[in-house]
Amino acid sequence: DPRIGGIAASIRVVPDFPKKGIMFQDITTLLLDPKAFKNTVDLFVERYIGKDVSVVAGIEARGFIFGPPIALAIGAKFVPLRKPRKLPGEVISEKYVLEYGTDCLEMHVGAVQPGDHALVVDDLIATGGTLCAAMNLLERAGAEVVECACVIELPELKGREKLNGKPLYVLVESR
Ligand code: IMP
Repeated sequence: DPRIGGIAASIRVVPDFPKKGIMFQDITTLLLDPKAFKNTVDLFVERYIGKDVSVVAGIEARGFIFGPPIALAIGAKFVPLRKPRKLPGEVISEKYVLEYGTDCLEMHVGAVQPGDHALVVDDLIATGGTLCAAMNLLERAGAEVVECACVIELPELKGREKLNGKPLYVLVESR
């Protein structure tokens, strides 16, 4: 798709952030380019409109930027998957392993019901641990995960292989 090049070019790579050796993929520069931002949302919407998706689940924090415009355009509800102790209601939690230590995502009980068809949205997949935890939350609530969608994939980290065969749709691959 001819729109992909402009999207890829709008993403800034910041070396040694947040620590030495990391090449941080910064989507805030994509957001400064209205055409690239719109093309990003449009590409996802074109893929999912008319498909059986009843819930878009966005992962804190950058899944909260791309998820809601997709949800609105395809007529699905939006559910935030948040870091611990942010959601005020009753939650279910899913811990996952990071390079150093662990992290956790939480979802409100009742936000997702059995029979829901979920799309999981984040900005980037690295090792795949975050998306895996998100899918576990949705499946524990009885939803079926249709697909995961990210703007950027770091294919060298093979995160795709951690998704238990669930399809992953990405716009840009980065090294
Ligand atoms: P994973 O769990 O290893 O796949 O890491 C993915 C999570 O870490 C996502 O929520 C991303 O937002 C975040 N992340 C990891 N590396 C980057 C990066 O280079 N830029 C932006 N977010 C990143």
